Amino acid sequence: MSAIIIGAGITGPVTAMALQKAGIDAEIHEAYGRTADGVGAYLTLAPNGLAALRVLDVDHRDLGGFDTPALELRGSDGRLLAHLGMGRDDDAGTVSQTVRRSDLYVRLRDEAVRRGIPIHYGRQLVDAAAAGAGGVVASFADGTTAEGDLLIGADGLHSRTRAILDPACPPPRYTGLLNTGGYASGISVDGPVGVFTMIFGRRAFFAYVNRGPGDVWWFANVPRARAATDAELAAWTPERWRAELVRLFADDAGPALRILAATPEIIAPWNTLDLPSVPVWHRGPIGLVGDAAHGISPTSGQGASLAIEDGVLLARFLRDHGDPTRAFAAFEAARRTRVERLIAQAKRTSNQKIPNPLTRVLRDRVILPLVSRAAARSTNDWVTDYRIDWDAPADRLPA
Ligand SMILES: Cc1cc2nc3c(=O)[nH]c(=O)nc-3n(C[C@H](O)[C@H](O)[C@H](O)COP(=O)(O)OP(=O)(O)OC[C@H]3O[C@@H](n4cnc5c(N)ncnc54)[C@H](O)[C@@H]3O)c2cc1C
Repeated sequence: MSAIIIGAGITGPVTAMALQKAGIDAEIHEAYGRTADGVGAYLTLAPNGLAALRVLDVDHRDLGGFDTPALELRGSDGRLLAHLGMGRDDDAGTVSQTVRRSDLYVRLRDEAVRRGIPIHYGRQLVDAAAAGAGGVVASFADGTTAEGDLLIGADGLHSRTRAILDPACPPPRYTGLLNTGGYASGISVDGPVGVFTMIFGRRAFFAYVNRGPGDVWWFANVPRARAATDAELAAWTPERWRAELVRLFADDAGPALRILAATPEIIAPWNTLDLPSVPVWHRGPIGLVGDAAHGISPTSGQGASLAIEDGVLLARFLRDHGDPTRAFAAFEAARRTRVERLIAQAKRTSNQKIPNPLTRVLRDRVILPLVSRAAARSTNDWVTDYRIDWDAPADRLPA
């Protein structure tokens, strides 16, 4: 079998490496060049994602991240609401890793290339159609085409593959928050290295983590009733955006203002989106993985980990079923419940980050302490303890 993979983000290279392990050839087609590699924010890889990478012999120590074992929730007055572990990893003693997205992309792509997997840049998928004899032909904006036995859409939240499969698919949903962040330097903050502090501020949500001496990574979620248009996003010059963040956090306890002042370049704001339920995940030899199938907001801390699980599991099903149509169906049956439950959970958490001026005091005094206590008592083990047994028979894979 040979697979065409669309997208060289996180899911694309992972899927290609997993297919190779399953004895299936794959080539990756990525719309952009490598010029965007240095840009952007960071993310956290949870133990379930790290364990899925280990199936492919990718060691978390090679990803350029740092240990992030726990997080603290705090109110706008600085009160500690809860201390939460970020998942345990008994089998290898690993904890969650925080890594720049660009570092993760580059390292996964480089590893795929090192293993002999071709990546074609500048290939933007425009169409895909079934070919004779059960295969598929992909057409790209540059006029080139590619043929294979199956096509895997790993092309992210705004997936073209998804639109080809189902032109009526609902667009990504705006979750009510703008996202931003940055890297502060030459500053010291309280708290152990690697423990996120997350503050439900009076007007917006602020989180930071001590990366090492003088090095603080942070992000902020800013409530906004409707998604900002491209023109509105462009109108926030770096100076205006910085001034807006200073205004939003001026009355909260904690080091937000010092961290903002120590950040040379604040990442421009963007709308936070998710995809609560994608109706069509596959048809014939074409299927979706990663954000293309189930975009989840960064609030979950699980988007990248789910994407990695997807790539390994789909390869496992393709190895065992042979036929792409059956493999995609088995993959959807194994994945849909887990990912949609997590997307819904992330949306509920996002809602807590949106203070309503009329009910904020109630949120801060009653709801947040209750929710935080419940979070500290409950377990997210069903998310972070998920493991893929590569050698298990197909019918024994976890749901
Ligand atoms: C700022 C930010 C912070 C985040 N924080 C976290 C976090 O803390 N923890 C976490 O787990 N997740 C986080 N996420 C989510 C995580 O980054 C995604 O879930 C993950 O990147 C999904 O991987 P993917 O490969 O499916 O999609 P992507 O990483 O989006 O990759 C898709 C690739 O497909 C390419 N592509 C798109 N269209 C085409 C086309 N037509 N033809 C060819 N190629 C195409 C794109 O250029 C891209 O390279 C965050 C996301 C953002 C934006």
